[in-house]
Amino acid sequence: MANNSFSDLQGKVCVITGGGGVIGTAIAEALSSAGVKIAILDIREEVAVALAENLNKRFNNTCAGLACNVLDKDSLIAAAAKIEAVLGPVDILINGAGGNSPDATTKQEEVNASNMDKLDETFFGLKMDGFQKVFNLNFIGTVLPSMVFGENMVKRGKGTILNISSMNAYKALTKIPAYSAAKASVNNFTEWLAVHFAKTGVRVNAIAPGFFLTNQNRFLLTDEKTGNLTARGNKIIASTPMGKFGEPEDLQGAVLFLVSDISKFVTGICIPVDGGYSAYGGV
Ligand code: NAD
Repeated sequence: MANNSFSDLQGKVCVITGGGGVIGTAIAEALSSAGVKIAILDIREEVAVALAENLNKRFNNTCAGLACNVLDKDSLIAAAAKIEAVLGPVDILINGAGGNSPDATTKQEEVNASNMDKLDETFFGLKMDGFQKVFNLNFIGTVLPSMVFGENMVKRGKGTILNISSMNAYKALTKIPAYSAAKASVNNFTEWLAVHFAKTGVRVNAIAPGFFLTNQNRFLLTDEKTGNLTARGNKIIASTPMGKFGEPEDLQGAVLFLVSDISKFVTGICIPVDGGYSAYGGV
């Protein structure tokens, strides 16, 4: 029998961490339109609740918005209990909470002869507190929800986990070492957990978005005053063969594919959705 639809998603329950963000919202819309019941978890409760209400109105599914901190296991356990009571057992986990911060970003791209007197603007000036926060949010913030929601999936013998990686996982980007290291760890963890769960019926995959203008990177890619692209923003466009930033909706197809049974023999992979960025050598 040919399997050419996402109809298996109808009625399934999906948790999206960081679901109130730009990418989380686009993913929630795609899954809602496929009949999935969604729990939006976000550290910003009001955003999670508002999005869930909006989805309920537009798609006639049951959605819930909850406050949750992906770095706090008790907060995840409490959210899991509420979700199970309101929506039922969780079939899909999307680890979307993440992002970079100015506190974990060097001002200088590299150390060279012209900036030896400004070493505090390079690697040497990074504050470990900021570095650790970004690393933890992106990596531990993927590990902990996988532990909390993955356990019941393994017990039920079915489920999928989808991690959100980044182009940094393949080649580190300048200025953001904590974010780069964390996303490389996310890719490695995706493979590790996929193998660990391979015989349980639970699949683990990732997508690696290319460049999308969102809150986490706007300060790096656009000038706050003029709104024009920074030199870094222009460099990204020049390195993206399609010559543009992605739209959050561009991620929806890869997500639907990876969380649906249509990809039931696929585990441990990361799909770049990047306008060709990762394929391009720059020449
Ligand atoms: P965003 O800032 O719009 O969304 C991130 C969301 O995570 C926010 O709603 C925020 O409130 C929430 N969050 C932050 N800390 C949290 C915590 N401790 N617990 C729970 N929620 C928390 O950013 P986005 O661009 O939508 O990013 C979503 C994911 O996609 C992130 O993992 C990001 O690293 C990744 N990503 C983004 C891009 C891009 O170009 N925007 C590229 C590659 C990967």
